[in-house]
Amino acid sequence: MKIIASNFKTNHTRKSTKLFVEEVNQFLEKENIKNDVYVFPTATSLDTFEVLDNLTIGTQNAYYVKNGSFTGEIGTEQLDEFNIKTILIGHSERRHILGESQKEIAYKYNYYKALGYKIIYCVGEPLEVKEIGMTETLGYIWNQFDGIDLEYDNLVIAYEPVWAIGTGKIPTTEDIEIIHKKIKKKITQPLLYGGSVKTSNISDILDIPNVDGTLIGSGSWNVEDFKEMIKITNTK
Ligand code: PEP
Repeated sequence: MKIIASNFKTNHTRKSTKLFVEEVNQFLEKENIKNDVYVFPTATSLDTFEVLDNLTIGTQNAYYVKNGSFTGEIGTEQLDEFNIKTILIGHSERRHILGESQKEIAYKYNYYKALGYKIIYCVGEPLEVKEIGMTETLGYIWNQFDGIDLEYDNLVIAYEPVWAIGTGKIPTTEDIEIIHKKIKKKITQPLLYGGSVKTSNISDILDIPNVDGTLIGSGSWNVEDFKEMIKITNTK
C-alpha cells in the first residue's frame, strides 16, 4: 500500500493543525482507508492526537539531544510528551537554507535510529547538479547516504529534487523512474517521491515504478486537497 505524507513546513497554527488532523482522521475512518498517512506539523503544533493507527504525526526536526541548552531547538523530552516517534531528517530546506551538513545530518540520523524512531530521510540534487547530468545527480545522492545506515528497518526514503520543491516543476517521468530504480537497488524500505506533488499530478507520479508514495509540501496544506490525494493514493 502506498504512503502519503504532508510536510507543513512553517504553515498552519496550533488550532488549524488540530482541525486538519481531526478532519483527515475522520476521513480515513469514513472511507476505511488503511494506507499509512503522515502529517508533519510545526513544532509549536505538536500535540497528543487521538488518531487511527495508520495516521502518524511526526516532527519536521529535532536536535540530537534529550534536553539541554540549544536555543530554538527541541529534543526527545519535548517529543516524548506527545509520544512522537517519527522524524523527518535531511530535508532540503534544512540542508540548504538552515545549513545542516551531511556530517550533522548523519549524526542526527544515528541518534534517532538508536532510539528506534521512524525516520523519513530526504535526499535530492540541486538544479546545478541536475543540469550536469544523471551520473552527477546520482553521485550527489550517494553522498547524501554518507553515514546513513540504509539497512535500518524503520526507514523511509524520500527522493526530492531541490529544484522541484515548491516550484511547480517536476522531473520527467523517465528521470523519476531511473533515479528511483537506482535508489531501490540500495534499499528494501519504501521510497517516496517529493517535489511539487499536487492533486493533478499525484496519480501519474504514483504510477511510476518504484514510487512507493509521496511526500508533499505546499500541495497538501489545504485539507480538501490532501484528502483528495489520500483517496487517489488509496486506489493505487
Ligand atoms: C517538501 O517540503 O518536502 C515538498 C516536497 O514541498 P512541495 O510539495 O511544496 O514541493
